[in-house]
Amino acid sequence: MLRQIAEKIVQAQRTVVFVGAGVSTESGIPDFRSPGGIWTRFDPEEFTYQNFLASERARERYWQLGREIYALIKAAQPNAAHLAIAEMERMGLLDCLITQNIDGLHFKAGNTPEKVIEIHGTVMYVLCLTCRKRYSRDEIELRLAAGEKVPRCDECGGLLKPATVAFGQPMPERETAEAFRRSAASDLFICIGSSLVVHPAAQLPVVAKDNGAFLVIINRDPTTCDSIADVVHRGLAGPAMEEIMRYVKEMKP
Ligand code: NAD
Repeated sequence: MLRQIAEKIVQAQRTVVFVGAGVSTESGIPDFRSPGGIWTRFDPEEFTYQNFLASERARERYWQLGREIYALIKAAQPNAAHLAIAEMERMGLLDCLITQNIDGLHFKAGNTPEKVIEIHGTVMYVLCLTCRKRYSRDEIELRLAAGEKVPRCDECGGLLKPATVAFGQPMPERETAEAFRRSAASDLFICIGSSLVVHPAAQLPVVAKDNGAFLVIINRDPTTCDSIADVVHRGLAGPAMEEIMRYVKEMKP
């Protein structure tokens, strides 16, 4: 089955890789829904965009959780799955990578910004919700470490928030439109490490399939799109992608 996926990668004209939190668990960043995942310890209802806007206490809690996640992400290194996807780009075998992840590990692995669509934003920046001024996360981290609990914009006094998409927050328009366009135009669509329950991102494989793409799913557990996929590989992302790329290199040295 992994050899068949490799053949498809070599033959395809426009391969879109679509990843979720499961691609980064082997780097030590927990996903949301697995046992021990983030939402088994925090209540997702509490960390909505609406709550963030509504109360200082909610913002303080949001930044507390954010700092915990950021520390984990900063220390993390790309794993075999990230490296395999970066290798696909280097070999000219990747139309684009659509990621739901906010951890920036694809860039550490070697993917370039031109090929990556971050539909749920990134933890690497912080944005002012009023004037849109952009800060590096490390700069804000220093302010938090120095005792600020809820940082505000030094230009306009507006609320600062990590440049990630919180529950209830609108998706970034340009990235979302581009992700749908590229999915519809793909002839091979590979989902890796996503439960495919978060919408609208989970629509992307359906759009790809409806427009004629060959749909591959690589995931440890069942997903909502298994029944429409052409190939489902149930397993870990790192070892699967490593083996797929080994076959690819045999076929296309
Ligand atoms: P999810 O938590 O809903 O699902 C993750 C899926 O990955 C599960 O189905 C699980 O079976 C699978 N999985 C876990 N480890 C795996 C591995 N090593 N190999 C293969 N499969 C594995 O995550 P999701 O569908 O991506 O959606 C949740 C949202 O969480 C996303 O929108 C994303 O923005 C956010 N998120 C991001 C990060 C990150 O940036 N690393 C981490 C947690 C959550």
